[in-house]
Amino acid sequence: AMRHFAKRLQKAGMKVRYRTLDNTAASLEAEVALALQATGLGAVLLTEPGEWRLLDAMTNWQERLQVPVTILDDDHFFVSRQQFSRWAEGRKAWRMEHFYRAQRHATGILMAGNEPVGGKWNYDHDNRQGFNDTVPPRPTLPTCPPDTITEAVLALVESRFADHMGTLRPFDFPVTRAQAEAELAHFIAYRLPHFGNWQDAMAVGEDWLFHSRLSPLINLGLLSPREVCQAAEAAYHAGTAPLNAVEGFIRQILGWREYVRGVYWTQMPDYKSKNALASHRPLPDFYWTGKTRMRCMAEALRNSLDNGYAHHIQRLMITGNFALIAGLSVKDICNWYLAVYLDAYEWVELPNTLGMVMHADHGLMASKPYAASGKYIQRMSNYCEHCPFDVKQLTGAKACPFNAFYWHFLLRNRANLENNPRMAMPYRTLARWGAPKLEAIEQQAQSLWRRLDNGEL
Ligand code: FAD
Ligand code: SF4
Repeated sequence: AMRHFAKRLQKAGMKVRYRTLDNTAASLEAEVALALQATGLGAVLLTEPGEWRLLDAMTNWQERLQVPVTILDDDHFFVSRQQFSRWAEGRKAWRMEHFYRAQRHATGILMAGNEPVGGKWNYDHDNRQGFNDTVPPRPTLPTCPPDTITEAVLALVESRFADHMGTLRPFDFPVTRAQAEAELAHFIAYRLPHFGNWQDAMAVGEDWLFHSRLSPLINLGLLSPREVCQAAEAAYHAGTAPLNAVEGFIRQILGWREYVRGVYWTQMPDYKSKNALASHRPLPDFYWTGKTRMRCMAEALRNSLDNGYAHHIQRLMITGNFALIAGLSVKDICNWYLAVYLDAYEWVELPNTLGMVMHADHGLMASKPYAASGKYIQRMSNYCEHCPFDVKQLTGAKACPFNAFYWHFLLRNRANLENNPRMAMPYRTLARWGAPKLEAIEQQAQSLWRRLDNGEL
């Protein structure tokens, strides 16, 4: 995408100094110093980056490079870092829903005067259908075959990173503005109408369902979040997509995407070292190879490794949920999410992984941990029908690993979680179980961890 963008700028008559991966200095700062030397330019104007470490380094550039350095806001967001800080100031509890409603007011998106269009702010309850026979046919997706520029980069990646995880080909992602616009138009016309109902559903072989696949394009800057939200809103007003789909989709972008960014910038750099539930176990190899007998994990990992993609519920409730309830290392799982996805940048990956998935930030991102047993996965997908483990069993060699890990997670984190009102129900269930059942869960969890270490799951 960068190479295509450089070409577009050159075509428009601009002078571009584009450095390729095989021809760069050791650091960004060194590269900028070289550029200043080579061009004789006397100032640096840059857009803020998406990583705290880099912004921190850039704030010293003026002194180190001895030229004026101006850092501009990244206008690929609705809300600047300063605006988020002002919203957050003095609030006792931060909740995405409050932030989201403020943004609906501020932008006028899906608003009728001071009221939400349709009379409700949130249609989440209509958006939780599992995968079943009523799922409509999935539309054929647009493809973007690699041109010579993309082929050159694929060859570079093949020569430099052949031993990395995942698969490089076939590669058919949008890399230009025109391709990104076509992807957006296709989503609005064919997938948005069903996005709401099936937003949380999962099924074997279904890598995209009705999701937009727009996150890499928005994060790269090929599409602006505003134009994406406006296109969805226009579909509602034109009567081509229902409100539950349009509101659900807009909430992800105007709400979640902006909110996680605000959390990142206001909490860094301490945020990165948080580990409220003391999760330290090493990441099993199957996160990198996809080779596991658990069908739900194998499917989410295959999608991740083949496509650099998994939709939100695969990330949150399959690979993330497993990491949470099995007590995997927060640092390792954050590194994994940053490494595998096409859309991964630290500002968005870290709060989602450390906060939402691992509950490592003492509940700042999520008011309760997203922990679930196999029952949730069975309800939302058809994975369990294709799995050698039995989702109904809690203990024994064939028992679904999510079950004992889930209850063990609640038991071992009782002191942290028991008083959370949103966790009252599972703790009431646990209180009804006698010592023998609790001991059986303990034994099963210990056996699962041994099998994990031995590569037997
Ligand atoms: P859709 O389901 O079509 O959603 C529409 C858009 O909403 C997305 O394109 C995205 O821009 C935005 N969005 C939805 N949920 C979130 C969210 N929780 N945070 C921020 N934006 C959101 N998203 C990233 O862009 N980069 C990441 O590195 C990333 N890491 C994640 C890690 C974990 C552990 C989890 C649980 C979620 C992560 N997400 C990340 C959020 C979300 O899963 C992806 O944005 C989404 O799956 C991308 O697919 P899509 O474009 O088809 O999304
Ligand atoms: Fe996943 Fe358990 Fe279902 Fe197998 S039985 S697919 S491990 S939830």
